[in-house]
Amino acid sequence: MNEVDYLFFGAHPDDVELSAGGTIARAVKEGLRVGMIDLTRGEMGTRGTPAIRRREAAAAARVLGASFRDQLDFGDGVLRGGREEELKVIEIIRHTRPQLVFAPYPDDRHPDHTRTGRLVTEAWFYAGLRQLKTKLTEHRPQAVVYYLQNYMFPPSFVVDTTAAWKTKMRAIAAYKSQFHDPKSKEPQTFISDPGFLEMIEARGKHFGALIGRRYGEAFVTKQPPQLTDLIGAYGGREVGGKRKR
Ligand SMILES: [Zn+2]
Repeated sequence: MNEVDYLFFGAHPDDVELSAGGTIARAVKEGLRVGMIDLTRGEMGTRGTPAIRRREAAAAARVLGASFRDQLDFGDGVLRGGREEELKVIEIIRHTRPQLVFAPYPDDRHPDHTRTGRLVTEAWFYAGLRQLKTKLTEHRPQAVVYYLQNYMFPPSFVVDTTAAWKTKMRAIAAYKSQFHDPKSKEPQTFISDPGFLEMIEARGKHFGALIGRRYGEAFVTKQPPQLTDLIGAYGGREVGGKRKR
């Protein structure tokens, strides 16, 4: 693990790329350093094994260009969020010193996602307390940015991921055990149905349409982002709008 600009936390391998893979690929292309942490090994998944999923997760991170990807073992299906786990997340934040931390929105159909969002939000604040003595000095990223999974909330902003969409889908395809594979003999699941990837595609188009682009990824923050280019922020939505690219 090294210092990064963005640090992404997910409950399970593949969570982050499904919701924010395009944003990662785009940031890396723009020269930012991005780290990824899965809080569990995904051992409750119907298909694949933790070892297979670990290899797939590493391959997906390489496709996106992440500086590192690490996996913790907080328990798939029981995600533990006690003081021990909280301190682990605090140390990761203090060690990697990101400007922004990304986490699942802390209210989702899957309780592991909800707990990850809550745990990271609380660790984000505590990591900045000088009087909380650990081996590393305090650091609090500028904000926790939430990506959306099953439940939808009105986005605080949408990132144009048009140019990064193919890279995102290639990263998702690295999870051969999880998603549609006509040759697989494993049981069908909600996410291995071909309709699941169609839904990801449709969601990307829907969020893109909200900002007048082909593809987008939506995020929620509890505090609004500050904008320095208001016209640029709305550019491309309407006829005559200023197109930045
Ligand atoms: Zn998940």
